[in-house]
Amino acid sequence: QIQIPEKANEIIATLAEAGYEAYVVGGCVRDAILGREAADWDITTNARPEQVKALFPRTVDTGLQHGTVTVLNGKEGFEVTTYRIDGEYLDGRHPEQVLFTPNLLEDLKRRDFTINAMAYNEKEGLVDAFGGIGDLERGQIRCVGDPRERFTEDALRILRAVRFSAQLDFEIEAETKAALAEFAPRLTKVSAERIQVELMKLLTSDHPEVFRVVWETGITAVILPEFDACMETPQHNPHHCWNVGEHILRTLTGVEKDKALRWAALLHDMGKPATRTTDEQGIDHFHGHAKLGAEMANGILRRLKFDNDTRKRVVRLVEFHDDRQFPLNHRGVRRAIHRIGADLFPDYLKLARADALAQNPALLPEKLARLSEIERLYTEILEAQNCLSLKDLAVTGRDLIDAGVKPGPTLGVILNAMLEAVIEHPEYNTKEYLLERILPLVSS
Ligand code: ATP
Ligand code: MG
Repeated sequence: QIQIPEKANEIIATLAEAGYEAYVVGGCVRDAILGREAADWDITTNARPEQVKALFPRTVDTGLQHGTVTVLNGKEGFEVTTYRIDGEYLDGRHPEQVLFTPNLLEDLKRRDFTINAMAYNEKEGLVDAFGGIGDLERGQIRCVGDPRERFTEDALRILRAVRFSAQLDFEIEAETKAALAEFAPRLTKVSAERIQVELMKLLTSDHPEVFRVVWETGITAVILPEFDACMETPQHNPHHCWNVGEHILRTLTGVEKDKALRWAALLHDMGKPATRTTDEQGIDHFHGHAKLGAEMANGILRRLKFDNDTRKRVVRLVEFHDDRQFPLNHRGVRRAIHRIGADLFPDYLKLARADALAQNPALLPEKLARLSEIERLYTEILEAQNCLSLKDLAVTGRDLIDAGVKPGPTLGVILNAMLEAVIEHPEYNTKEYLLERILPLVSS
């Protein structure tokens, strides 16, 4: 049976005592049945927002126009939404108006997928009008009603379908899947922020390989055509046995569930289609693909309205993912750490490993041996507490000013020159040495 948190039950009980119907509804019911932790417990009721507000001392007007009031119970907030019917969706994304309804079934009918359209309370038990339980048992994503109508009303549902498929490891039911492919072009109506949120949930799920379905259904052609180009780019050379897109999909499943790593895996070879050249022997080369890929990743992540921090991490991982010819000694590895950034080096190693695993198995032992050696040297460098970034440098901007350097942009230039010296010679990292011996060299 379904375990509802006590705090949610109290709200349902208060509404019931006042004579209203109230249920937990949607994603939380689905997750509770699956034994997954629900992100949030939403409550649906026939009480109007004013009536809800009158019953509880602490409420927030979260979305009155959609009928939503957040009820605070202890430290937790619960969204309580009045049963509603969505009006016409003229723009393919926002209903023109919402109408309240006294009928729970009407409210469930407006929801996207059968597994998301169930309600529950202790008195009535489960309300499952569209076969949600059956679909949960079959492991299936199916629209409530006619998928073509549902995707026409709101194109975001197209992305939600593939996202839930990845999160739950569910298949998309045939008719729903056919409609995905047919209506994918409508995704141009969905905002970049919403696309980003759904792609992020898909990529950081347990089954990022579902990204293949995103491509098969023509969704990438609309929101990430760069990936389709990868799927059409062969790479005939000793390192590879799959085309660029297939290699990307395999790399994606080889990195752990981490925002920057999964996106970096998806984007790492985006520069390949445009840099491909084939020599007289029929061997494909991709000169400069990582640099171009980094520029493309930057553009894609800006287009998807990423936060700056994640965007920059991903771009740096893409730019340096192919940096692997450096000498296998402490200095070589310190230089590599400095190039990619000390903060990102562990992620670089994870991406490089997944990348190698998705290449020609015949060359894998060699590649893994090299990576293990880099990891060993990296561990030793960490143990030696070598300075790897400005924050570990024995000298600060303040020290430079005290030593007579004029405040301004030269400070940064000098600090970086000192860092470079220390990357080459860790023993230089003392205040005395840097100020007395290095400063005169770099400030001229
Ligand atoms: P998550 O685990 O991501 O929170 P969820 O199913 O709870 O998944 P929400 O976005 O929190 O998704 O929405 C809550 C519920 O509202 C859904 O379960 C579904 O019933 C309904 N819903 C949300 N978005 C849509 C939509 N675009 N079209 C139709 N119904 C929707
Ligand atoms: Mg939710």
